Amino acid sequence: MLQDNHGRTINYLRLAVTDRCNLRCFYCMPESGIKYVNRKDLLTFEEMERLLLIFSQLGIHKLRITGGEPFVRTGIMEFLEGISNIDGIHQIHITTNGTLTKDKVDTLSRLGIRSVNLSLDSLDRQRFFEITRRDEFDKVMGTFYRLLESDIKVKINMVVMEGRNIDDIHPMVELTRDHDVSVRFIEEMPFNGTAGQGNTTLWPMPKILDHIGTRYPNIEKQPDPPFSTSVNYRIPDFRGSIGVIAAYTRTFCGTCNRIRITPQGTLRTCLYGNGILNFRDALRSGASDQEITTLLKKALGQRARDGFEAERNRKSEVSESMATIGG
Ligand code: SAM
Ligand code: SF4
Repeated sequence: MLQDNHGRTINYLRLAVTDRCNLRCFYCMPESGIKYVNRKDLLTFEEMERLLLIFSQLGIHKLRITGGEPFVRTGIMEFLEGISNIDGIHQIHITTNGTLTKDKVDTLSRLGIRSVNLSLDSLDRQRFFEITRRDEFDKVMGTFYRLLESDIKVKINMVVMEGRNIDDIHPMVELTRDHDVSVRFIEEMPFNGTAGQGNTTLWPMPKILDHIGTRYPNIEKQPDPPFSTSVNYRIPDFRGSIGVIAAYTRTFCGTCNRIRITPQGTLRTCLYGNGILNFRDALRSGASDQEITTLLKKALGQRARDGFEAERNRKSEVSESMATIGG
């Protein structure tokens, strides 16, 4: 079992398979996009699979595929097919913007994908367009309804943003009345591809909950599963549930069980930290499985206590796009 220097079990990997994306969500990247990593510097799928084989033997049993947009990378379905057979990986989850996902739902179900987190920041077509800068609302909703028909658990990720989608909070809660969906309201973070943004979310968790309570005063607390980043609720008699993720105010670091690998193979032991080491370089210079294991364990032995410490230890302020990390 992997443990960090604070005694936290590490059993969850978030793997960003690309930094490319077909949307331009304004909280994630500028309208002009970001400077993509050179293709040759991206981890190949073979390299990712090798890392997964090693990590799964060390106790990484949960995997999230993210990006950029995972489904824009050619070969992603074959990759998923291959890794769905790795013995030690017990759960595979995917985070997607849903624009290219609908026709793949049946295959994802056959591969045993446990859940899909669909990023959907508005239920209003015009607001969706203003946030993502692309007119893809119908495709995302098509994916949502197809997922609901499948056996894949569906969650919606909504980043809460002053002046952008506050009017969507109540309709999103309303969506849980008739649908078995978990809607998660996420505090906005400064990972938007632009420096000098300042460091405050205008909608921290208590404010989001207060706002929900104005329309749904009978909102009920639910138990939070172990390692959960969301604080969970439901409205009595509604089919779905609600979660709030304090991604900026960072209230969940004490039980953090996750590591991240970026599209170019950098290990991040905290979202808010700098990259610790590059597995791509190690793999390409012929590192053995044992050497990869040693590198990982060494990095976990120097892990920041929480996201605030990780941020203080950075060489520069947070300004990179979330598409380069995976969220
Ligand atoms: N493209 C896919 C998607 O949007 O679902 C996967 C990658 S995206 C970077 C992963 C998650 O990060 C999404 O749910 C997105 O809403 C969230 N995200 C991106 N930038 C963020 C920010 N600045 N603050 C909070 N969440 C952010
Ligand atoms: Fe693309 Fe996801 Fe970033 Fe939106 S949040 S620009 S969909 S990577």
